[in-house]
Amino acid sequence: MAALALGTSFRRPGPPARFWVAGAACAMVPDLDIVGLWLGVPWGHVLGHRGITHSLAFAAALAALVAWALSRDRGWDGRRGRLWAYLFVATASHGVLDAMNDAALGVAFFAPFDARRYFLPWRPIPVAPFALRFFSARGWRVFQAELLMIWLPAAVLALACVVARRRARPAAARA
Ligand SMILES: [Zn+2]
Repeated sequence: MAALALGTSFRRPGPPARFWVAGAACAMVPDLDIVGLWLGVPWGHVLGHRGITHSLAFAAALAALVAWALSRDRGWDGRRGRLWAYLFVATASHGVLDAMNDAALGVAFFAPFDARRYFLPWRPIPVAPFALRFFSARGWRVFQAELLMIWLPAAVLALACVVARRRARPAAARA
């Protein structure tokens, strides 16, 4: 949801629907690190949950890889930088939102250079239970909180971008 809303501020007419799909997918990729929990990676390790896959360096590298894979045809000429910026922000938004919840483990924003875990000073979002445990009373409470603290601001951001673009278009046409 965050990625889709962020996309409205980067997208210009032209890029196909896979622009959105890629952004949403990039925003989810960091949590693939939970495989580490099953593989026995120690809690708090840089390769573990909320470790390197939640870092800014990972977001930059993933964005570069996906942008390269998506934009090889010439229709993307002149737009690749913006595509990378969007995919970077979409991926990084995952760690930022994680750092705003009340989990026990912070986010390794600066891995692999600094393995320390960070939280933002403001942590209003309740942490979501893993996998199928989400479909429980606590999961429902978390979902309601996320509707209010993530979906609603995301919708407002998307709407503001659409309105701003509509306003800018006639001005550009007049010029
Ligand atoms: Zn995460």
